[in-house]
Amino acid sequence: MARLSSKDVLRADQFSVDEVALIMETARGFADALARGDVLDRMRGKILSTLFYEPSTRTRLSFEAAMERLGGKVVSVAEAKSSSAAKGESLHDTIKTVEGYADVIVLRHPQIGAAAEAADATHRPVLNAGDGAGQHPTQSLLDLYTILEEQGRVEGLTVTLVGDLKHGRTVHSLADLLANYGVCFRFVAPDALRMPSEIVERLRAKGITVDESSDLAAAIPETDVLYMTRIQRERFEDPAEYDRLKDAFVLTRAMLEPAKDSITIMHPLPRVNEIATDVDGLPGAAYFRQAANGVPVRMALLSLVKRE
Ligand code: ASP
Repeated sequence: MARLSSKDVLRADQFSVDEVALIMETARGFADALARGDVLDRMRGKILSTLFYEPSTRTRLSFEAAMERLGGKVVSVAEAKSSSAAKGESLHDTIKTVEGYADVIVLRHPQIGAAAEAADATHRPVLNAGDGAGQHPTQSLLDLYTILEEQGRVEGLTVTLVGDLKHGRTVHSLADLLANYGVCFRFVAPDALRMPSEIVERLRAKGITVDESSDLAAAIPETDVLYMTRIQRERFEDPAEYDRLKDAFVLTRAMLEPAKDSITIMHPLPRVNEIATDVDGLPGAAYFRQAANGVPVRMALLSLVKRE
């Protein structure tokens, strides 16, 4: 079976266009196999360790489901903060220990760069399941997969990213990933939560059009993919600032009246208050389908980083 050039998945922009195509194709194959009820054994005899130092529902469960669906086994530390890290163990030492127990490691950690540090510490593949406000590459790959499923293409789409673009690792990764596909970006955020300027500059240097504003209503009519995000409370030093910004954008069904019929509405979840529940029944409301796509996409990643 084909594999990726790097043993690790650390950033969304580490992949060539061909590698992303391979991941998408492999994921589609696994989605078909799951729909047929096939029993798979690509990871039989292998153990995945999931180490989560920050809360997670979808990422951890879908990685674990992916491993189980591939015939592998899982050992998990859901609250890694309460593991030996609480006794002062370094990430390096934890990873050196876990490599003795597992063949592949999935890590979520509050510090930017933690996954890269872990990858340096071990010969085992490390998959970044979110490093603080840094990157969340496996989410971006399932986001791309979802766009392809829902829209049938990605080239030429207007993709509007909304919410906490400063701290949101999902939007950082997604912007970098989609930059290779000729999309047109609209970034909608309160002034205090704009996309980091180095990311905007990187996109513009690649010839991507980026429009920045804080006006969601104005962006909706032209949008093909509307990607809502949560204001990342855990990244705020000042709780009053969070309270000021937390309801900056609340998408309602009424606001979508001028939208294209074909619009796709996404959210990495969990939603707090960003999408009113009256949106859920619209055909374009794709966020729970998006979450489900985490399983075949993570099956693809586990298979493609597998080392014999
Ligand atoms: N679940 C996503 C993440 O871990 C999005 C979020 O938490 O807002 O980044």
